[in-house]
Amino acid sequence: MQQPYAITKEDLGFSRIISIIFRSTWIHFPWIMVGLLALAFFSGTLQAAAPKILQVIIDLLVKGNGWQVQGFWKLLIAYGLCLLGGAIFKFGASKISFYLATQVEDKWRYAALRHYHELPFAWHDQHDSGEVGSRIDKGGSAVFVIIHELIGQNIFVSFLILAIIIVYTIVMYPSFALVLLFPIPLYIIITYIISQKIAAGQAHLNVLSEIANRTLYDGVANVRTVKAFGKEKEETKNYATKWSGYHLYEYGIERLWLIQDFLQSTIEISMRTIVLGYCAYTTYNGSISIGELTLIMSYQQMTFAPLVQLNSLFTRLRRNVKRISHLFEIIAEEDALHDKPNAVNIKPLQKEITVKKMHFEYSGRIAALHGLNLRIPAGKTTALVGRSGAGKSTLALLLMRFYDPEEGSIMWDNTDLRQIKRASLRKKVAWIPQDTSLFNRTIKENIAYGKQNVTQEEVEEAAQLAHAHDFILQTPNGYSSVIGERGVRLSGGQRQRIAIARALLTKPSLLIMDESTSHLDSETEKAISDSIRELHHKTTQLIIAHRLSTILHADQIVVLDKGRIVAVGKHEDLLKNPVYKRLYLMQFHRDE
Ligand code: ADP
Repeated sequence: MQQPYAITKEDLGFSRIISIIFRSTWIHFPWIMVGLLALAFFSGTLQAAAPKILQVIIDLLVKGNGWQVQGFWKLLIAYGLCLLGGAIFKFGASKISFYLATQVEDKWRYAALRHYHELPFAWHDQHDSGEVGSRIDKGGSAVFVIIHELIGQNIFVSFLILAIIIVYTIVMYPSFALVLLFPIPLYIIITYIISQKIAAGQAHLNVLSEIANRTLYDGVANVRTVKAFGKEKEETKNYATKWSGYHLYEYGIERLWLIQDFLQSTIEISMRTIVLGYCAYTTYNGSISIGELTLIMSYQQMTFAPLVQLNSLFTRLRRNVKRISHLFEIIAEEDALHDKPNAVNIKPLQKEITVKKMHFEYSGRIAALHGLNLRIPAGKTTALVGRSGAGKSTLALLLMRFYDPEEGSIMWDNTDLRQIKRASLRKKVAWIPQDTSLFNRTIKENIAYGKQNVTQEEVEEAAQLAHAHDFILQTPNGYSSVIGERGVRLSGGQRQRIAIARALLTKPSLLIMDESTSHLDSETEKAISDSIRELHHKTTQLIIAHRLSTILHADQIVVLDKGRIVAVGKHEDLLKNPVYKRLYLMQFHRDE
């Protein structure tokens, strides 16, 4: 089976996107697709047949012997059934296409979201999460629109009827065909030219809307800072300037729509008048009957139905394909840190992690870490200290393989991190980041996040270890309390303790704490640190600290400065090192 979700950067063009969407629909739901096409075909054929029956009925009536003619009632019933059947099949096609469209939409949404989560940090560094969320949302909806609204519901049936009418008129009434079909190319050309302009304008309009929305969400997300600085009015003003710019541009596009509508109506009205005149003339000279006149007028009406949709079809198709292309861009991104084919599962750390001649730089920027050599012994506590920007967090991120080093390697016992299955590494390493990110879910869900099928006892044990149990019981619903966006209903220290409990629950082999006790008082912090050591004596701890008071007990302290290791040792030994001594003096003996 072809893999419909393996999108590459070559697949972002208009026709490729349409073909991929339909290929994925066909691959996953072939029978539903066949059913949909069959229903649409029956509906179109019946709708096109009804005027033909009407023609026969009218001709019978005009001849004055309608009621008496044998089979008249049958014709009347057939006419009704044709219309009713056409409507029922259309209803069925519409229902199926709705289901089909939602199913395909979901597949693409999930494919994009899954790939998004798998992409490495280097990619996330460059992309705004809100923008990615909106791309997945709009792209998913666009898949639905293309399958259901554009193809399933309207366009397919209408164009099928048009095709039937074209063939029938050319065969039966060649001279009328010319008049009837003449406006079609004209209509298409005008629609195409104007809709090109509308699409270009629409693309710019999207950019303006994104800019305005970014301002809006930025202000909303930082509401506390806005209020703290008394910037409420400015935030609204800022947004208003951008949003009114959007509207101003939108008026221009609206004008184009109106011009397009007007030109189309002019063509339609002129053609209707011409066809009616021609029909009247040919009826008068006896070339066609009154019934045929009705047939031609009905067919003319029906040919305009899909054409009227053309204007919105072009622009909507382009707009929605563009949205899908933004979603595809996410899937097309290469996961540079994907597992190697021969990747292995790792075992708990036995001896040590060794960093060898490691060099790393963030994309295109100056090096963050230079030629690092370091041993992190298993079961011990290693502390990383250094000024802000020294590279401490970067080293921690590399140890979790959120990035790969440019040069050199990191060995987990004897295995290079690049040879390890990512999922197995994540199970062995727990990370408490500097900026505790909690979910707007219950306390229990937050603590249990890193492990599946967790019992209440396990959650409480981890909470006790993190000295969080007591305050959790004091929250309105205990472990079932929902903590608000990013844990807003908790204090900084409480958030950190939840994050610590979450990490401890997974019983990690390596526990990385990135300044994660900064909001705790020294006593709590020491108690947590001791209990981690006692209970998980096999856990290797890597503590990134600004406050030296928290790491004086560490088995080894690594001093980083401007991306280089300048000293490694115990606290007493390091006092000889100027960088460490300066950090120490700044914190403990300000007056010295
Ligand atoms: P520390 O944790 O010691 O404060 P970091 O490891 O966060 O320092 O940063 C080391 C250097 O890398 C700094 O110069 C910082 O500006 C840069 N840096 C950190 N994160 C990124 C990133 N995501 N993209 C680009 N540069 C970064």
